[in-house]
Amino acid sequence: MTVGATGLPDFEPGTVWLVGAGPGDPGLLTRLAVHALANADAVVYDALISDAILDFAGPQATRTYAGKRGGKPWPKQPAITERIIALARQGNRVLRLKGGDPFVFGRGGEEALALTRAEIAFRIVPGVTAGIGGHGYAGIPATHRDCNSAVLFLTGHDATGETPQAIDWEAAARIPVIVMYMALKHLEDIATRLIAAVRAGDEPVALVENATLPNQRVVTTTLASAAADAAAHNVSPPAIVTVGPVVDLRSVLQGVMLEQRPTADFGAVSQRRVGT
Ligand code: SAH
Repeated sequence: MTVGATGLPDFEPGTVWLVGAGPGDPGLLTRLAVHALANADAVVYDALISDAILDFAGPQATRTYAGKRGGKPWPKQPAITERIIALARQGNRVLRLKGGDPFVFGRGGEEALALTRAEIAFRIVPGVTAGIGGHGYAGIPATHRDCNSAVLFLTGHDATGETPQAIDWEAAARIPVIVMYMALKHLEDIATRLIAAVRAGDEPVALVENATLPNQRVVTTTLASAAADAAAHNVSPPAIVTVGPVVDLRSVLQGVMLEQRPTADFGAVSQRRVGT
């Protein structure tokens, strides 16, 4: 590994950087992510990557959208990995840019495995995951000594698109704070399962839509009313759902916490929403 004048590793031709862009606010990009954007020859980016983030790419970089359209996965994952591998084999510096952290519900592991099989050298650049950073912007700590000593990250649907079957819901319900990604579609079902296990219906819940973006919206509700309130307020993806007592801290912190939203115009991001 060579290290450039910036102290950051050189982006070598023919390699892939698998980079997390954070939940949306460009201010949350890491130095490595900005460095990768500036030096990449090819940027292959997912849904939820805003133009404000892509604007950090150099003029030399080709940009390929590899996200979902209309809630349907497009293009298929194997086609994306084949494209990334082909670009690297052509000698490009390939930046695979993903929302949040690439290894948190981002299929980054699958892509890293494909690169390993193809023997293409790659680097992982973690990003701020929506379930922590997005909630931080809403004034909700992931942990708080008085409330919880454990957090569960949960996806609201598995590979089949249904409520995850492999989860032991009785055990999951015992984790004090549950942070859910992609959970809007099956929120009613998930809430019912958690209440049927051990959770109280009046347990606080936060829905954070478009976290860290100018159109961030926070709806606070209870577990029993979460699905109905999500529908009533028309909460749409991307949204994070958190269950647990830490949600109540928001109302305390809110009064003095500074405005957390970026001021840039992110209009384009709503065009590229992921499905539930
Ligand atoms: N790798 C990403 C998660 C990708 S899965 C990460 O680490 O954050 C996509 C889901 O992430 C969305 O359905 C939503 O639940 C969540 N998400 C991503 N960005 C978000 C944002 N800005 N606001 C709210 N939720 C977001």
